[in-house]
Amino acid sequence: MTGAKRGDILQNSMTYGLFTGAFVMHYGAEKIGILVIPAGPGNTERQINLMRDFGTTMLHITPSYALYVASVIYDKGIDPRRDLKLKRAYLGAEPYSEETRKKIEDMLGIDIYNCYGLTEMNGPGVGFECKYKEGLHIWEDNFLMEVINPETGEPIPDGEIGELVLTTLNREAMPLIRYRTRDLTKIISEPCKCGRTHRRISRILGRSDDMFIVKGVNIFPQQIEQVLMSIKGVAQNYQIVLESYDEMTVKVEIDRELFDGKIERLIRMKDEIVDKIRSATMVKPKVELLEPGTLPISEGKAKRVIDNRTI
Ligand SMILES: [Zn+2]
Repeated sequence: MTGAKRGDILQNSMTYGLFTGAFVMHYGAEKIGILVIPAGPGNTERQINLMRDFGTTMLHITPSYALYVASVIYDKGIDPRRDLKLKRAYLGAEPYSEETRKKIEDMLGIDIYNCYGLTEMNGPGVGFECKYKEGLHIWEDNFLMEVINPETGEPIPDGEIGELVLTTLNREAMPLIRYRTRDLTKIISEPCKCGRTHRRISRILGRSDDMFIVKGVNIFPQQIEQVLMSIKGVAQNYQIVLESYDEMTVKVEIDRELFDGKIERLIRMKDEIVDKIRSATMVKPKVELLEPGTLPISEGKAKRVIDNRTI
């Protein structure tokens, strides 16, 4: 847990359940002298009250829920820099873009680190970003990592994108050999500035089973997220709706102030989103601009793609 030290207070807003990653973070944090609040996901009012009452300094949370919590903090008129003691957050459990990280960092005035793991491999204890945030160091003394071509199963060279495959090295009761994670990434084998010798992986770029096809083009939801989060005025929530194989609709919530009657501005914004998604994905989307609170809220892992197509 990069930057964490004795005396910190961790609000663990991940799902607590049998064998879930929330427990790994919980007991790991306690081991280094951190007070853990086992908040679990959801009940956002309570999350914010806990932050205020306990003086939470760190959050363990999914990126989509962090965006939502940040927006509620603002709606309640709370200034996170003045009224809360948050310093950093550890985000994981779903892929997200660098633009989303920056957005949450700016909104809450905190430092965000990526952590990586999967329930089958001890939850978040597989890899972590160091302070340089240039990829996640995999604990190579515990896991043997490979990246393969998801279609052929063949290993591919370091630096090329493929599916991460992990083998446990120290597990006794339930070893896993060449476990396919479905997570897409690449191995960064160059030494890191921090001096650690464990190799890194890039942030998770998507899941091999997340990809969808429109007009014959392969698209990952993250390509769209990256565009949306870089546009000023876009709020926290969006959804991609697929009704046919030739068309995608991107529903996106934008800041409330933009619905002030100036139609010109809305049209410009819509055009900008259409153009940028088209250049990122090669497919021209339909875009619907919505007021905040219109789309379903994510209190854990977000469902970004609604695929209503039947074959
Ligand atoms: Zn490093």
